[in-house]
Amino acid sequence: MEKKNLDWSNLGFSYVKTDKRFVANYKNGAWDKGALIDDDMIVMSEDAGVLQYAQTVFEGLKAYTTKDGKIVTFRPDLNADRLIDSAKRLEIPPISKEMFIESIRQVVSGNAAWVPPYGSGASLYLRPYIFGISPVIGVKPADDYQYRVFATPVGPYFKGGAKPIVVKISDFDRAAPHGTGHIKAGLNYAMSLHAIVTAHEEGFSENIYLDPQTRTKIEETGGANILFVDFDGNLVVPKSNSILPSITRRSLVYVAEHYCGMKVIEREVELKEVMNGDFKECGLCGTAAVISPIGKINDHGKEFEFSNGMTEMGPAMTKLRNTLTGIQMGEIEAPEGWIMEIDC
Ligand SMILES: *Cc1c(COP(=O)(O)O)cnc(C)c1O
Repeated sequence: MEKKNLDWSNLGFSYVKTDKRFVANYKNGAWDKGALIDDDMIVMSEDAGVLQYAQTVFEGLKAYTTKDGKIVTFRPDLNADRLIDSAKRLEIPPISKEMFIESIRQVVSGNAAWVPPYGSGASLYLRPYIFGISPVIGVKPADDYQYRVFATPVGPYFKGGAKPIVVKISDFDRAAPHGTGHIKAGLNYAMSLHAIVTAHEEGFSENIYLDPQTRTKIEETGGANILFVDFDGNLVVPKSNSILPSITRRSLVYVAEHYCGMKVIEREVELKEVMNGDFKECGLCGTAAVISPIGKINDHGKEFEFSNGMTEMGPAMTKLRNTLTGIQMGEIEAPEGWIMEIDC
């Protein structure tokens, strides 16, 4: 198979139309079996449920080439479970886990020429999503739905090393108590846009959201979970019902315990402890960057700088990141079931 002639290492993170996408439809109370198609356009009613009441959920994962030349994805079974959980919360009929895995296989093999080569740092980003497609005017779930998966090649997250970022404590909330913070829904992102544009205008890279009930505890950013390392070398993971269960975070917790000899503590983390300097390192985690280092946190003008400052990622975060990316790339042996090979 001939690869596309792209400058893989210099790709950014933006949409590029690839050859094939998977589409399945839910009609008359059942999902059809779905197929790969060429058409990237969607024609729907002006009154589709997704357009009126934002009835849509999504996932994000990557396909990439390992050291031994295999095309793989990382723990797609967890993306399937999470999409199903998200769908149920928005009264969207969930697809089966089997259909999810099959759709990933088809989209990756149908776009094999777009999977970047090993060593480029680039990957093929996969975006599965389900949305209400039939007309809805009274507030209720749509009758019909569409499931799609498209693929778009994305470049390395860090070009020229991981640079620490400055983040602010946001005055906005991303999730209500007992709301939808724990599911991957477009609506959580729609309401974070004003907050992120504002933060960027003020010179910050990201927002840290606090727990919506007391506004004293650390939750996460708009699209990544937060990790801390304390002065005893433990990985400290904020716990809350409104944090999105990041697959990267859950994998890093395992890697910390089983590969790096670190103790993991999952508990509520007070903003106060962070600003008092109780933690040595801090980072954001998600599929895109695996870990990206936080250099400084700004709480309404009061600034705290972590030990490694603004020049580089701290040693514990670096070790965690290198170990997980090594597992993903086939350089370090993976736990059973973490890597799904795709025949292309
Ligand atoms: C997707 C997402 C993450 C990261 O999850 P991964 O599975 O690690 O990619 C974190 N926070 C939010 C709000 C998200 O939507």
